[in-house]
Amino acid sequence: MADIQHLIDIIVEEMRERPDKGRVADYIPPLAHVSPDKFGMAVVLADGRMLCGGDAQEPFSIQSISKVFSLTLALGMAGDGLWNRVGREPSGSAFNSIVQLEREQGVPRNPFINAGAIVMSDIILGRGEPREAIGQTLRLVRDLAGDDMIAIDEHVARAELATGFRNEALAAYAKAFGNLNNEVDRVLGVYSHACAIAMSCAQLAMAGRYLMLGGRNPETGKQVLSPHRTRRINALMMTCGHYDNSGEFAFRVGLPGKSGVGGGILLIAPGVASVAVWAPGLNAQGNSLLGSIALERLAGRAGWSVFEPRG
Ligand code: GLN
Repeated sequence: MADIQHLIDIIVEEMRERPDKGRVADYIPPLAHVSPDKFGMAVVLADGRMLCGGDAQEPFSIQSISKVFSLTLALGMAGDGLWNRVGREPSGSAFNSIVQLEREQGVPRNPFINAGAIVMSDIILGRGEPREAIGQTLRLVRDLAGDDMIAIDEHVARAELATGFRNEALAAYAKAFGNLNNEVDRVLGVYSHACAIAMSCAQLAMAGRYLMLGGRNPETGKQVLSPHRTRRINALMMTCGHYDNSGEFAFRVGLPGKSGVGGGILLIAPGVASVAVWAPGLNAQGNSLLGSIALERLAGRAGWSVFEPRG
């Protein structure tokens, strides 16, 4: 195998030198204050080795990367019945678009756009209390990463709730079509807190290990998800993980990935590696600009792709 630490070190240097770092998300106020100069990368290999570079230990807001963990939790609760309420086609639209939701009668295109994750938050909430549902989500992430220090940034959660008018609209719309059982504000409480989980690249790459290992959490030896469902989550990350930029990401990187507007991306090379990258500046579709370039280089140089025979 290529010297991954060497590859990371080179990529960190290359990214530092790039003048165009993209634009930091500013529609969630606390995210607007994050420096676009941050860059971190962490790789966990199948044998358990962890390799890091740059700001890999600094926590950031995982935002929509949480949709992967919410899907894992919601699938465990609702089973395949979940697919009656959420589709699995790439949306070809922005992550917070409302147009499609009307045309498709309140059934979101896939679990990785906001509307889809809002419906999953309703499933996770079930008949319980938001506080419990939020606790369950955080517990899952901590278990997957093997790290009890992971926490929710309340400041981010509250800011998002105070300014998330689009998400309110999406939730109300889904409810109007009968695809939300709970009240809008309770569902959004669950949704926003999941988005506000703060993790470092190192913690995130650890949490992604089950997706590289067919659903097994190497921390506990337990099967978090069946191999079959794990494969499907990876397929959805590949086809829908970057909104209307998903085709481009698959074309360039060739591996399942999920982005968030905090500038993080979780990337899975099945059987080989779980990777997290963080660069807060975004491209036009709300995905990390340098993060995508860095992953394209890492996957290309390491020879990782689901579309090539493994050497
Ligand atoms: N919390 C963000 C929102 O609801 C998540 C969006 C994202 O990361 N793409 O808008």
